[in-house]
Amino acid sequence: MSDEAATVMVDGIAVTRIAMLSDNYAWLLRETASGMVAMIDPAEVAPAQAVIDQAGGRLDFVLLTHHHDDHIAGAAALVAQYGAKLVGNAADAARLPALDVAMQPGDVMGFGDTEIRMMESSGHTIGHVAYVIGRRIAAVGDTLFSLGCGRMFEGNPAQFYASLGRIAALPADTLLLCGHEYTKGNVGFALSVEPENAALRARAAEVEALRARGAATLPVRLSDELATNPFLRARSADEFGRLRAAKDRF
Ligand code: ZN
Ligand code: FE
Repeated sequence: MSDEAATVMVDGIAVTRIAMLSDNYAWLLRETASGMVAMIDPAEVAPAQAVIDQAGGRLDFVLLTHHHDDHIAGAAALVAQYGAKLVGNAADAARLPALDVAMQPGDVMGFGDTEIRMMESSGHTIGHVAYVIGRRIAAVGDTLFSLGCGRMFEGNPAQFYASLGRIAALPADTLLLCGHEYTKGNVGFALSVEPENAALRARAAEVEALRARGAATLPVRLSDELATNPFLRARSADEFGRLRAAKDRF
């Protein structure tokens, strides 16, 4: 997605990107029919407050993808301030701030007229989850980045490959909300894997232009990642594991 607007509308849900720390993104979701508001992975409080207050000062849910500090550090304070409910994976509750709604992968929660489904996405960490919001939005945390994927800190290649397969099986026009602006740093390795991939070369040029003017490269459509991201294009867990190891050395 090449527009620079921080907010995009998908099926009645306003999705707002919020830059945090040096390269993190939190995401604010506002269901326009009900006015309900949810935030994904707030690393910080102040930038979240600014966007929440601008949107009407309401926060119903904070959704966490995984236990790393750069995804949870702002959560407890925001929950306390706005009376939001904290949502996360029951299996990883011991490593998350106190959950109000402990879900299991496959569980669905209501968000106004929209459903949010927790999806298993272990690999970067064990217990990492993604959230599928409605039919065409997925918050994927550090599982998938544009042109790359998260480091495999806790999982193994089979787990990570299965998690990427679940994302790849979502509708192709799904908008992916990733946890970091790592795209430009991912270009070189991706091109080393598929130097002749025309879609990848076009995306690399787009990313270069966006970053040159300080614009974000996210969110991104799943269809674009399916055409360009070497980790999503791996055809086996072994191939994925070789790519992940090669990227670690790149
Ligand atoms: Zn992480
Ligand atoms: Fe992270």
